[in-house]
Amino acid sequence: MREEYKVSRSFEKLLKARFPILYNGLGVVWRDGGIGHLEVGVGWYGLLYELGLRIEPELEMMPKKERGSLVQIKEKFARLTFYFVRNKNEKIDNAISEIVKISLETCEWCGKKGKLSDLGWMKTLCDECHEKRIEEQKRGGSWIAD
Ligand SMILES: [Zn+2]
Repeated sequence: MREEYKVSRSFEKLLKARFPILYNGLGVVWRDGGIGHLEVGVGWYGLLYELGLRIEPELEMMPKKERGSLVQIKEKFARLTFYFVRNKNEKIDNAISEIVKISLETCEWCGKKGKLSDLGWMKTLCDECHEKRIEEQKRGGSWIAD
């Protein structure tokens, strides 16, 4: 397992403990044997915590059927991407689209203000981390296509 993902697993545990309804589906084995995890850089962890603070109280008041189930969180096209099974509702949708918008301006690696870093694979990074990424790419490092 890559180093970043080890960090993700421990933060995933923290999220599940603090926001047991919203993040309950992470790390759970699916019917087809697949498994979804939190797989984003530490720079976005604060956004996920923020999302929990916003949504968890709403979810608590909702009937179970309407809550939907969040099963995976990834970076896709430089933004936070949430995968749900079953339905999700408008309140969750709104809170998520706000957080996704912020992720497009937040460095995924360090959490500073970021912008699009397009080296064939798009990410949202600050200038410093973008430079690091270029260096990594020159050295053929593992951070190129994550
Ligand atoms: Zn950065």
